[in-house]
Amino acid sequence: MSTLKTRYLVVGGGIAGVTCVETLAILHPEEPLTIITASSLVKNVSNVSFYAKTIVKFDVNDTEASSLLKIHPNLKIVYDSLKHLDTKNKVATTDGGETIEYDVVCICTGGIPRLIADSKKCNRILGIRDTESVQEFQERLTNGRKMLIVGNGGIASEIVHATKGIQKVWVIRDDYISATFIDPGAAQFFQDTFKNKADNQQDGEKNTILRRHVFSEEDTLVSLNKNLKSAALGPDWYRKLENTKNESGEHELEIIYKVEVESVTEVEDKEYPLDVKLTNGRSVQCDFVISATGVEPAVNFTWDEEPKKASDGGLAVNEFQETSIKDVYAAGDVATAAWEHAPQWFQLRLWTQARHMAAMAAKAMYGKIINEPILQDFCFELFTHCTTLFGYRVVLLGKYNGQGLGNNYEILLRTTPSLEYIKFVIQNGKLQGAILIGETDLEEMCENLILDQIDLTPFGDDILNPDIDIDDYFD
Ligand SMILES: Cc1cc2nc3c(=O)[nH]c(=O)nc-3n(C[C@H](O)[C@H](O)[C@H](O)COP(=O)(O)OP(=O)(O)OC[C@H]3O[C@@H](n4cnc5c(N)ncnc54)[C@H](O)[C@@H]3O)c2cc1C
Repeated sequence: MSTLKTRYLVVGGGIAGVTCVETLAILHPEEPLTIITASSLVKNVSNVSFYAKTIVKFDVNDTEASSLLKIHPNLKIVYDSLKHLDTKNKVATTDGGETIEYDVVCICTGGIPRLIADSKKCNRILGIRDTESVQEFQERLTNGRKMLIVGNGGIASEIVHATKGIQKVWVIRDDYISATFIDPGAAQFFQDTFKNKADNQQDGEKNTILRRHVFSEEDTLVSLNKNLKSAALGPDWYRKLENTKNESGEHELEIIYKVEVESVTEVEDKEYPLDVKLTNGRSVQCDFVISATGVEPAVNFTWDEEPKKASDGGLAVNEFQETSIKDVYAAGDVATAAWEHAPQWFQLRLWTQARHMAAMAAKAMYGKIINEPILQDFCFELFTHCTTLFGYRVVLLGKYNGQGLGNNYEILLRTTPSLEYIKFVIQNGKLQGAILIGETDLEEMCENLILDQIDLTPFGDDILNPDIDIDDYFD
């Protein structure tokens, strides 16, 4: 087999790998570029809309890898898996025995799901990650009567929201729902909404409540669930699950707080085939278990010399996405941001960050080849995440849960039942983070207040007073 020679090598066809290829196609189209992708379908981004400079919402879709050839005239696609990386001689070898010589390489191999114990011996424990696993879930959903959901991140939250006509037991180790993304107040907002829907209440009176609190730190970060060698699903993946079963009108949900799953046993001659034991001593019987308990970086190939890894198993990268090994870059879920973070940024393995890291890696790789210095991109100044939870637009900014701020911060809340939930995290009079749920129209103002670190003390609680247009203050 002949050896392929390339200037740039990208490994992985998820959002990070594709973004890296797309950015290199713009920066250096005349140079040879190769992508190794284990799957013929890769990810692409569409419908990009900007709520503010750094707050971006977009859709993620599956597309044929061959469509990338349209954007890069010198692109080669190797449909295979990386098996070994010889970083001294700069040679990559695939499972199929192909060898590729490169100058710079970017590893974008994503993550694998951290399934609960017992998942290996029981095929009724499912992890949601890719199109196939959603299909399997759909089938279970059609035939099942009762499921148990473990995990408290975005995936678990959306499954609870999107599934109908099946009994659900949601097991979480925190004392409030959706702890990855929201705080106890927002959890209450959503739960009140469920309740209103269940009680079939009309919207009725919506009393806005405005409050200021000094809160203690609530720093619960759980990652998202993943599986190997197939790119993760897009933000609206759960829509595939909607309407999979004709509703019988039944929508039962039980949430069990502050517990974990101890064991899962298959049983015969019982009403349900699974018996799940919880750490509080309780047993739950069900048809199947959805395990949505986080991801681990997928470093699923061998090296001549391992680069430095972070404590979460990810490849430690500096602000230019370079690993500890020269000319080896990494981006997306496989990478761990090991540089000194800007005060209002932190890593959470999400689409946006995979895109940001990969574009940064591409710029740095290009800078290396043409021998030009580069600067870290502005997007790493502020953590932003736009998503939909329980049917509401959710925008998270900066240290939205007071992450890492200790006990010395205040929280200003405005909430209107079933309509909006707004939380400002303020330290020393300056906005450090925000949760915006609903159509609040406050995204741009919050972005500016956080990035410019404007002193908000003179405005007091008026900053969230719905009768005062705070933008006027800054005009
Ligand atoms: C069910 C689910 C829902 C999610 N929902 C959201 C959401 O709503 N919003 C959000 O922001 N984030 C969400 N995420 C997280 C998001 O999907 C990830 O952060 C993102 O996909 C990371 O992109 P990536 O390119 O690093 O990795 P991946 O998308 O995992 O892609 C990795 C690619 O590398 C390939 N690969 C792996 N090993 C090799 C190898 N050895 N050789 C060659 N190729 C290889 C894989 O086949 C895959 O194509 C969700 C994740 C899951 C699982």
